[in-house]
Amino acid sequence: MKFTDFGLAEPLARALAEKGYADPTPIQIQAIPPVLEGKDLCGIAQTGTGKTAAFALPTLHRLAATPKHRLKYATRCLVLAPTRELVSQIAASFQSYGKFMKLSVTTVFGGVPISRQDRAMAPGVDVVVATPGRLLDLVERGSLDLRNVEVLVLDEADQMLDLGFIHDLRRIVGLLPRQRQTLFFSATMPKAIEELAGRYLTNPVKVAVQPAATTAERVDQAVIFVGQMEKPALLQLVLANPSVERALVFTRTKHGADRVVRQLASANIVAEAIHGNKSQPQRERALAGFKHGTVKVLVATDIAARGIDVSGVSHVINYELPNVPEQYVHRIGRTARAGADGQAIAFCADDERPFLKDIEKTIRQKVSVLALPANFREAVAHTAKLAKLAPPAPRDDEPPRTARDDFARRPTGPAGRRSGRPGRDSRVQVKPAARAGGGGGGSRRGGR
Ligand code: AMP
Repeated sequence: MKFTDFGLAEPLARALAEKGYADPTPIQIQAIPPVLEGKDLCGIAQTGTGKTAAFALPTLHRLAATPKHRLKYATRCLVLAPTRELVSQIAASFQSYGKFMKLSVTTVFGGVPISRQDRAMAPGVDVVVATPGRLLDLVERGSLDLRNVEVLVLDEADQMLDLGFIHDLRRIVGLLPRQRQTLFFSATMPKAIEELAGRYLTNPVKVAVQPAATTAERVDQAVIFVGQMEKPALLQLVLANPSVERALVFTRTKHGADRVVRQLASANIVAEAIHGNKSQPQRERALAGFKHGTVKVLVATDIAARGIDVSGVSHVINYELPNVPEQYVHRIGRTARAGADGQAIAFCADDERPFLKDIEKTIRQKVSVLALPANFREAVAHTAKLAKLAPPAPRDDEPPRTARDDFARRPTGPAGRRSGRPGRDSRVQVKPAARAGGGGGGSRRGGR
């Protein structure tokens, strides 16, 4: 199957050829034909599968096939996504695929002056890509009229629910015409999401690619058992390995991310944090530096990392393990995108072992154990010395302020899964056998 088989409008075919995309991905093969026919779609797919093109290409084709005069303050296509990063990225995809079409695409999200978005809406816009909260602000100000929306796309619906956007979503959908095409995407399909899809979709075609359990198979995964207090030293050693070209480091909290950046700075490693407390320009600067290679290490929380699409992420480092296994799958999916190889390394403290167990159950495989690097002890001593010299850090143990700001899912389950942060165990949790053959950045050991 080739892109040319879909019969997409010539400007789209040209844009694809220019990007060098010849073969559609599985989600594109499944989704593009029914969406071109005007059907509703319910897709289970994660970022990295090519799902953005799966909805953007047929939507653009449809807009091009039925040209209309722009109406003031109106839009023909509304795409809703949970984070600013994802919104920017989706809009960039629309622009890139539609570069040979006369098309206007506008992004709408908080953290930037609303007046600019007001002005952008005034002449009418073909495609609006938005986070729900700011979109409603614009509607309330009379700057956006949703009555002419022909296509609604809900992307990363599971994440939208997690972030508490359900009421905003209901309000927005209530403002749209009933007669429309709706495309619904979610990485996971728990009951609440299925119900939501049932409410908004009419006779949808259902497509699914790479369920959470199998995405993980493409990524080379490993875990290193290490005491919580010794993680900074381990991170520095791992990042010093020449195979690490561009690393994405995950922490559970915003403050944890800032702390890691400070610790790396004290070891002269340039890193930037990206999370909900950062302003939009700060996030954009950090991402741009990471993309261009001036920043080798990006430290992120789960929510902020959604939608980060940077090719060439050689390593994903789970500095803290997530207490929800699906988050682990999302995280490691940032590497090995679009078929590239990548490595994911998890730092697991003693009290995070239950999380690791849950993760292994979800991905249906054991994560192989890496030994601590040979020079680990010296690195720990050195890092401790640096820490003594550093000025006191701000408190970092507060929980996320609001559900929208940070990772907010609080699953029920074993008591350990509810505890917010890992404890402060300073012992190195490595089996004697696993320690024996350590090399720089950790040499590979067999499965456990
Ligand atoms: P997405 O899942 O939409 O975030 O896409 C993941 C990455 O794959 C993006 O960088 C896309 O530009 C890229 N991509 C999407 N479709 C294709 C394709 N058919 N061939 C090659 N790369 C693609």
